[in-house]
Order: sequence, then C-alpha cells, then structure tokens
Amino acid sequence: MKHLCILGSTGSIGVSTLKVVAQFPDKFRVRSMTAGNNVALFAEQVLAVRPDRVAIANKDVIPEFKRLASGWNGEVLGGVDGLVEVAEESASDYVVSAIVGAAGLLPTLAALKKGKQVGIANKEPLVMAGPMMLAAAKEHGSTILPIDSEHCAVFQSAKAGDAKEIRKVVLTASGGPFRTSTKAEMLVATKANALKHPTWNMGAKITIDSATLMNKALEIIEAHFLFDVPYSAIEVWVHPQSIVHAMVEFSDSSIVAQLGLPDMRLPIQYALTYPERLDGALPPLTVDKMRNLTFEAPDLERFPSLNFAYDAGRRGGTAPAVLNAANEQAVSLFLNDQIKFCGIFDRVGEALAAHTEKPVDSLETVLEADRWAREFVRSR
Ligand code: NAD
Ligand code: MG
Repeated sequence: MKHLCILGSTGSIGVSTLKVVAQFPDKFRVRSMTAGNNVALFAEQVLAVRPDRVAIANKDVIPEFKRLASGWNGEVLGGVDGLVEVAEESASDYVVSAIVGAAGLLPTLAALKKGKQVGIANKEPLVMAGPMMLAAAKEHGSTILPIDSEHCAVFQSAKAGDAKEIRKVVLTASGGPFRTSTKAEMLVATKANALKHPTWNMGAKITIDSATLMNKALEIIEAHFLFDVPYSAIEVWVHPQSIVHAMVEFSDSSIVAQLGLPDMRLPIQYALTYPERLDGALPPLTVDKMRNLTFEAPDLERFPSLNFAYDAGRRGGTAPAVLNAANEQAVSLFLNDQIKFCGIFDRVGEALAAHTEKPVDSLETVLEADRWAREFVRSR
C-alpha cells in the first residue's frame, strides 16, 4: 500500500491522478491533498477521498471550504507553509507533484528532502532548480518518477540499454493549435484559439505553453536534468497525433520509443505503480490510430521557444529560472488580455537577453532570479 500526498488535486493532473487511484483501492490510500483556490471541487474530492489533512494555498477561502466540506473532520492548513507541511509529513510515502508553475517548488523540494518517492508532473520547479532538486533527492534517498508523458516515455525507453549507450533523446510535440498557421495568423491569434489544444486536455497555463511550444522548451531542460543528457543530444520532433511520446536512440542507431493514447492517466499510473505495471482502465492503442503517424521538424522561426531553451539551458545557472518565470508572467498577462500571443515570445526573449546568469548556490538565488524576471516582464 502506498500512502499518497497529492499536491494540486483539483488540477487536470490531480483529477486524473484521483481517477487512477480510485481503480486500485488496495494499492493506494490518499493521506493528504492540496489545492490553490477552487474550494468547490476540492470539497467534493475531500468528501469522496477522505484524507487525514489538506492544505489550501489561498487562506481566504478556507472558511468557505470548511462549510462545503462539513461532514469531514480532518485538519485544514493554509498558505505555502501549509502546503510544505503536508508535503513533508510522515503519513505519506509518495508525493504526486501536480501544482502548476513555480508555486510547486517549495512543497516538492520539501518532499524530496524527506526521502519520499515523488512523481513529478510539475516541470517548472525542475527547470528553475533542477540540480538542487536532484541533489536533494540523492542526499535524502528519494526517487523522482517523471509523470510528464515525454519524460515517462524516455524513462521507459531508456531501460532498453545502458545510460552510457544513449546517443540522443527525441521528445515529440503535438505542435499545438498553430502548427500550420502562418506568422501573420499567429500575430492576431486570440485566447480562444490558443486554448484549443488539438490532442491533449490540460490546464490553461500548459495549454498556452503548448501553443507557443514553450512547454517543449521547458521539457528540453527537464529532460537534460532528469536524464543527464547534454543539450546537443536532445531533439524535438513535431508529431501531431501524440501517440509516440518520446524516443531514445542508442549508440548502434537503434531507436526505442514508447507509444500510447494521449491520456495522462497512462504516465500517471506508470509513475504510481512503478516498478510494477498494473491492468488499468485505459483503452488500448488500436491499428486505426496508427494509420497516419507523421513527424516533422519544428519551425524555429515561428516558434523561437525551443531556441530559448537551448540558450538558457547551455548558459545554465539562473538562466532557466528566468526563462520559466518570464514565461509564467507573460502567459498570465496573455490570459488577462494584456499582451498579444506573440508578445509571449518577445517578453521571454527580452528577459533572457537582459539577464546575467549567476550560479545557483542557494534557493534564494533561484527565487531572486524568478522575482527579477517577473518584474522585468511586467515592466515592459
Ligand atoms: P491545472 O492548472 O489544471 O492545475 C494546477 C493545480 O495547482 C490546481 O490544483 C491548482 O489549485 C493548484 N495551484 C495553482 N496555483 C497554485 C498556487 N499558487 N499554490 C498552490 N497550488 C496552486 O494544471 P495541470 O494542467 O494539472 O498541470 C499541473 C502541472 O503538471 C504543470 O506543471 C504542468 O506543466 C504539468 N503537466 C500537465 C499535464 C496535463 O496534461 N495537464 C501534462 C504534463 C505535465
Ligand atoms: Mg509533456
């Protein structure tokens, strides 16, 4: 029996995680869960799952949550401290990291420092502070299991050989809603266009990141840290059907790939049940879905995000944290109708150009770079 803490249970990944967990009542028990703001859904989940404790980031909505969840008598914590406290408490041995953005850094790091197994969907903290998170995992004996579908695919494919035999990692990208749009069309793209993802159903921030290919940019850096592969050995291939999630090329030129329907319950289940594979509720991949699998190179002119990632990744230090924070701030401005779609590229590019990276010697250095980049983007 694994005892779980689910960070971000009300999000797209959180909801899918609860669906996976519900299939295996003798394998998992949810001891704690957290939410940002959405108390209506959170109260519903808590009444169904009955964890011991919960934490809500926005303290102001706690009274409303207690009213909606009356009948459940567990403990409610609030704020970032509350999130960290549930992430590190001893009742759980497995933490699902599914908060969106930099907000997941402190609780995820806290879980790693307690030697837990951590299933990570929340890629932004890995981009900001990857080396720090890996060092914490190593020092405290915790295991990181990737939930991001491409990284789960790399993790599985890499098992076909030895780490030193890996020549190249290929992450696939759906290409998002603007894959075939012209630059002129992208310049006038609306929020509704950008939020319409062709293959995956996800939270708003990652959906915009998929439209800009910034999601793949973050994933390049995530892959570099998780699998210790140099940037020169990470490629992105656009694959609109989202069936092949990633591939690993070995030194003999053999490529091993992982395939599956585009449904996050598959990588979530793999990360939760690892090293076992269990019979789940997912429909199998059938030949009709395989008839038209296509691959193409990304257009770096229309989607400069991938170059931002290679640049920030190679510069290292605080540069990836700046890439991430500038993007989070720019996406939030776009979602609030304050900048245009292509303004996201401009803001992130400008922030990276204006930043002088520093070595990441402490958490404070990372958080300072994050604050600097957000302020820089807001001030433009
Ligand atoms: P979402 O927006 O649907 O959910 C985010 C969750 O985080 C919610 O529970 C929300 O309440 C919580 N949250 C938001 N702001 C918070 C804050 N300041 N403090 C505490 N909690 C906060 O996001 P999602 O689509 O589920 O994505 C979650 C993470 O997983 C992201 O990092 C994303 O990149 C990654 N991911 C998502 C998918 C997907 O299919 N959705 C796939 C791969 C990776
Ligand atoms: Mg992904």
